Amino acid sequence: MSDEQTADVLRKLGVLKARFKEKASGDIHMVALMAQDAAAGEGSLDELRRAYQVLHRLAGSAGTFGFRALGDEARALELILKPYVEAEPGIPEHNAGIPKSLLREHFIGRVLGLENLLIIEDDGQDAAELFKGPSADTSDQPVVLIIEPDRKAAEQLSSALTPHGFSIHCVTPKDLVSEELSRVSVVLIRDNVLISQEQIPWDSGDRPPFICISSRDTFDERYRLATLGVDGFVSEPVDVPLLVDYMERLVDEKIESGTGRVMVIDDDPELLERYSLILEGGGLEVRCVNSPSDILGVLSEFRPDIILMDVQMGHFNGPTLARMLRLDPEWVGLHIIFLSSEEDREFQFDALSQGGDDFLTKPVSDRVLLQAAKVRCYRARQLDKLASRDSLTGLLKHSLANSEVAKEHGRSQRLSYPSVVAMLDLDHFKQVNDRHGHRVGDLVIKGLANLLRHRLRKTDVIGRYGGEEFIVALPNCSMEGARQSMQAVCERMSKITFNGAEGPFSVTVSVGLAPLDAYDKAEEAIEAADRALYRRKSAGRNGVTAA
Ligand code: GH3
Ligand code: MG
Ligand code: MG
Repeated sequence: MSDEQTADVLRKLGVLKARFKEKASGDIHMVALMAQDAAAGEGSLDELRRAYQVLHRLAGSAGTFGFRALGDEARALELILKPYVEAEPGIPEHNAGIPKSLLREHFIGRVLGLENLLIIEDDGQDAAELFKGPSADTSDQPVVLIIEPDRKAAEQLSSALTPHGFSIHCVTPKDLVSEELSRVSVVLIRDNVLISQEQIPWDSGDRPPFICISSRDTFDERYRLATLGVDGFVSEPVDVPLLVDYMERLVDEKIESGTGRVMVIDDDPELLERYSLILEGGGLEVRCVNSPSDILGVLSEFRPDIILMDVQMGHFNGPTLARMLRLDPEWVGLHIIFLSSEEDREFQFDALSQGGDDFLTKPVSDRVLLQAAKVRCYRARQLDKLASRDSLTGLLKHSLANSEVAKEHGRSQRLSYPSVVAMLDLDHFKQVNDRHGHRVGDLVIKGLANLLRHRLRKTDVIGRYGGEEFIVALPNCSMEGARQSMQAVCERMSKITFNGAEGPFSVTVSVGLAPLDAYDKAEEAIEAADRALYRRKSAGRNGVTAA
């Protein structure tokens, strides 16, 4: 996040805190009046219940806004009221017992004292600190920084990596500026640069993954590098496609672990707004729901990775809402985390058995909230990927790719813009397997997948259609634009050098195109692109043919 954005979030957090303070003061006043009524024998059990709810809310929110002492005291008072509000209504002994017990516990005095606790603020959670560091680099071309003292070696590595669709910068250790690290997706670093840790700005906050290129592949060397905190290790001579695969995984993990979609459900508007500011500041997409009856609509439109849900929301109950969501097969796998000030194990277990997955105890600190949400979003997406993504390439599986192309077909017709579908197939791929083995063949398939991911736009649909066949949909793109883009893919692919049993080799790819919006059905466009692909195969492969 930029300094300006951080300042804006901090300002909003300040406004929110002031609003909380004002509201809390009113709440405390109300609880005091109710307690006095009850002590005078004039109050009703209903009134006491309302006081209990207010204290419960304060206990769960005050700490989050920096008033931990207030939260703790509200929690203690809440526990004093608990036996009375949970008692069966209509039992006279209970009603009669309230005033005496309240007086005995100095309840009223303590409620009045809550107001004073509104002055005691914690040191403050440093929200600015949370938002530091680069936001995940989601530009289309990952940026690779090579830190290498030997300029010639750096250039060689750079030209071997460029065809894979990376944008490469080379730097010698002494020219390295630490700011540079924040704009980079992955760093390749020569082992001899890592003799002493001080030579690179190692711990500068949220650094990109470091892969070390080492001339010595020994246990001691690997252990030494692990101690320095490197994220990856490759030994020389460098197998470029293997290295690319390695880089891909690290970059993906890094981007994925910083993003996610979170739906937050809480009936306390200030708390909701604060959670949302913190989560959004940390790079997550957030949708807030204040009224539980809106859940279903927001859920199908927003499709979150996880839900953070309050437990007590007026007359709605979090665990029951979770159970209700699970009635729909679509949301059976959705990760639901309860936010609750309830510390009772038995209660928590019961809530989980109704359909929740986890518990965060209120008050939740900003750091815990953000970290917990990020980790769980990441896990949820990994699981989702297992189901929808091809395990070798990480691209959409056949059936999902088809439905995404169909969706794009619908959109392009509805909004009257041109879209293109492309079918790709590796040339003479059987020979690659026969000559170099299946494992090397797999690396070639991954190579093309990575290239497509890097070269195409984020909005393009990319799927692995079958063995060495791929499907791509290019929204809002002319046939000429698509031809140029696919031609560039073909050229890049032919320049990648793979290492096989019989030495280095390269592989070409053939592409067929069809205008997606020009056909009544998406399948017809796909078939037309497929026919164009086979025309390309008989016309000499390695290139693009349009339907
Ligand atoms: P053409 O240029 O006409 O496309 O020739 P080709 O050799 O590529 O022909 P074809 O498409 O029939 O061959 C595809 C081969 O791809 C056959 C199969 O063994 C191989 N293949 C399919 N899936 C995989 C995979 O996941 N990994 C590997 N290594 N090979 C695969
Ligand atoms: Mg083929
Ligand atoms: Mg084929």
